Amino acid sequence: MINYLYQEQNWQTQLSDLITDPLELLEILKLAPDQLLSGAILASEQFKLRVPRAFANKIEKSNIFDPLLLQVLPHHLELEDHADFVTDPLGEEQANQQPGVLHKYKSRFLLTLTGACAVHCRYCFRRHFPYQENLPKNDDWINIKNYIETQSNINEVILSGGDPLTLSNRKLKLWIDRLETVNQLKYLRVHSRVPIVIPNRIDDELISIFKNSRLRIILVVHSNHANELDDFTCAKINSLVKENITVLNQAVLLKGVNDSVQALCNLSYRLFDAGIMPYYLHVLDKVKGAHHFDLNPKVIDQIYKDVLANLPGYLVPKLVREIAGEQNKTPLFGVTTY
Ligand code: SF4
Repeated sequence: MINYLYQEQNWQTQLSDLITDPLELLEILKLAPDQLLSGAILASEQFKLRVPRAFANKIEKSNIFDPLLLQVLPHHLELEDHADFVTDPLGEEQANQQPGVLHKYKSRFLLTLTGACAVHCRYCFRRHFPYQENLPKNDDWINIKNYIETQSNINEVILSGGDPLTLSNRKLKLWIDRLETVNQLKYLRVHSRVPIVIPNRIDDELISIFKNSRLRIILVVHSNHANELDDFTCAKINSLVKENITVLNQAVLLKGVNDSVQALCNLSYRLFDAGIMPYYLHVLDKVKGAHHFDLNPKVIDQIYKDVLANLPGYLVPKLVREIAGEQNKTPLFGVTTY
């Protein structure tokens, strides 16, 4: 159903008016409060529910199994302990060189400027990350610049999160201006789910900032299901593509959400129609609280095999896992234990 309010309301207003009460979300979706099994409220206290109303508007009413809803609704199973599901599955605290800098790979590093996200994805591998201790302050910039200049291999910075597009355009531009002063940098990657959950984030000012940067900007959005990509969302993202900004998508393979060949093929086609190239399909990072999204490796292998058989090669995202301490994401297809 089209709700034009979310097409007109500016993104800051939407960001300041998120749904944070699980019972309100159920009411909006015409679901009974007892759909929330005991434990889910506690789970939402540990990792707060955050859902933009524009995203809730894409969820099918009265369907507790809606693939978009399953990604955001707290679940009592999040409270279960599983030995191999831990708080820092990617060993990021080891890679945290100084506030805001996560340096894992040779040619690029992550700059985390905010711990805030527009949406809280229940499977997020950073759901336990101690952001508050790691955000750079204004005067940390000189140290960050010095750090880049000691690493001659670095030519790319990745703004990650939290979600960098929750920052104001002013703050984003300030950091982009700073990064532009470092001669060795050529590329700036922005990892964000905001364009999917609040499409109005792509406003004229943001387009202009990206378009006019000396750095080549690559926006990597995060969409897991074709239902997230309604016409309005696609048109907004496509307005960046029209300005020659490269837009890629990374998805996470999630039990109950997109674990079928049909769902993954629909996602790839929908992305492509919007000018977005499928980039990565991540298997779930084993983060504490997300075990119920996990899939058996043999099931993953079969799904991916079927995706390969059904899509042209250019629409098949790379199936990968991130392994703590590795120099790159690890390709997985054909591997039996992962
Ligand atoms: S938007 Fe990204 S960083 Fe934020 S909760 Fe979702 S997956 Fe995690």
